[in-house]
Amino acid sequence: MLIGICGGICAGKSSVAAHLIEEHSFRRLFLLARNNTIPSVEQSASGEEVPEDQHRHHEKELSFQSADQLLDFVTLRWRERWVTTDIWDETVLDVLARRPCFLLLSVDAPVSVRWGRFKQRCTLHELEAPDLDQFVLRNDVHLYAPRSGLAPLLSRAQVRLLNPGNSIDAMNLALKALNLHDESRLRPTWDQYFMRLASLAAERSNCMKRRVGCVLVRDKRVISTGYNGTPRGVKNCKDGGCPRCNAAQQAGVGLDTCLCLHAEENALLEAGRERIRDGAILYCDTCPCLTCTVKITQVGITEVVYDTSYSLDPTAAAIFAEGGVKLRQFSPVGDPFFPEAFCSCIAASCWSRRSTTACRPVIGSTYP
Ligand SMILES: [Zn+2]
Ligand SMILES: [Zn+2]
Ligand SMILES: [Zn+2]
Repeated sequence: MLIGICGGICAGKSSVAAHLIEEHSFRRLFLLARNNTIPSVEQSASGEEVPEDQHRHHEKELSFQSADQLLDFVTLRWRERWVTTDIWDETVLDVLARRPCFLLLSVDAPVSVRWGRFKQRCTLHELEAPDLDQFVLRNDVHLYAPRSGLAPLLSRAQVRLLNPGNSIDAMNLALKALNLHDESRLRPTWDQYFMRLASLAAERSNCMKRRVGCVLVRDKRVISTGYNGTPRGVKNCKDGGCPRCNAAQQAGVGLDTCLCLHAEENALLEAGRERIRDGAILYCDTCPCLTCTVKITQVGITEVVYDTSYSLDPTAAAIFAEGGVKLRQFSPVGDPFFPEAFCSCIAASCWSRRSTTACRPVIGSTYP
C-alpha cells in the first residue's frame, strides 16, 4: 500500500511518516519535481529557506522525477508498504489516487502550535524565526493561494489526524489506534459498503423532521433502497406536503397525523414480500421505530443492522428478539470510510460519529 501524507506547515507530516517507518516497516518515497507555482513559504524571518527536517535523505532508487514514475514503482510493489509526504498538489494526488492501494492522510494542528514547532525548526538551523503575523500570512498562502493552495487537497483526505499538542508519545498512541497500515482500510467491508449506501439514500430524504435512509440486501445484492418522505405524487414534505412535520413539533408528537413514509417502509414496499426471503438484511442509518419494527418482523427480514442508536426503542428491540430478527449496531469506530467520524471536539480528534458521548480523545501531538 501507499500512504500519502499532506498537511500545513509543521502539522506533523514527517513525524507520522517516521512512525510508519519505525513501527510498521514502511519505506519513504520522494517526489523530487516540485511544481514551480507552489510558493516557497517555509522561510525564516530573513527569507532564508528552512530545511524541511533532518530525516529527509533521498535514497536514489526511492526518489522520482514525476508522480507517474512513483506510481509505476509502487504498482509493481503494492503489497509492500510505502509512504510519501510529497503530495505537492492535486495533480500529484490525481495520479496516485488512481490506484486502489493508495490512502491519503491529512495531518493538522492549530496555527499557534505549528508556529511553535516552526520556531524550533528555525532554532535548530540557527535561523531567525518569523513572528506570528508573518507565519500566519505564509500559512494562508500555503493553504489558500489561488491554484496552488493546499486546502482543496486536504479536503480530499480519507483519514484526518489532528495533532495538536507537544508529545510525540501521544501522537504515536493515536496513530497506533488509527491502524493506518491495515489494508482493510483500502476497500470497504460489506457492512461499510451497505451502510454508506443507506447514508446516501438518506440524502434523498425530503422529510423536514429527519433524514433517514436504508438498504435491503440479500446474498450481498441490493434488493431495494428507501428514504423517508411523503408518498408518490404528494407534495414533498419540505415543501409543506406534511403539515405535522412542518409544524416543528417535538419528536414523537402527532405521529398519527404524519404523511411521511419511513425509509424502511419505502424499502419494504419497493422490494415486495416475494423478493424478501430468508437471509434478507436491512441496513438503516437510524434504528427503526416501533411501527417499522413490526413491519420488518412481519415480512421476514433476518437481520437489521443500524448505525445511529439514539432512537432505539426498548419495545422495538424486544419485538425483534421475539420475532427472531437479529439486531446489530454497525460500529464505525475508526472507520476510514466515514471521514465525518471525527467529532467536533476541539481538544482532540476522535472517532465518535455524530455523538460526543462516544468521543475518545486520544490524539495527542508531535514535535520534539
Ligand atoms: Zn416529513
Ligand atoms: Zn410528517
Ligand atoms: Zn419508522
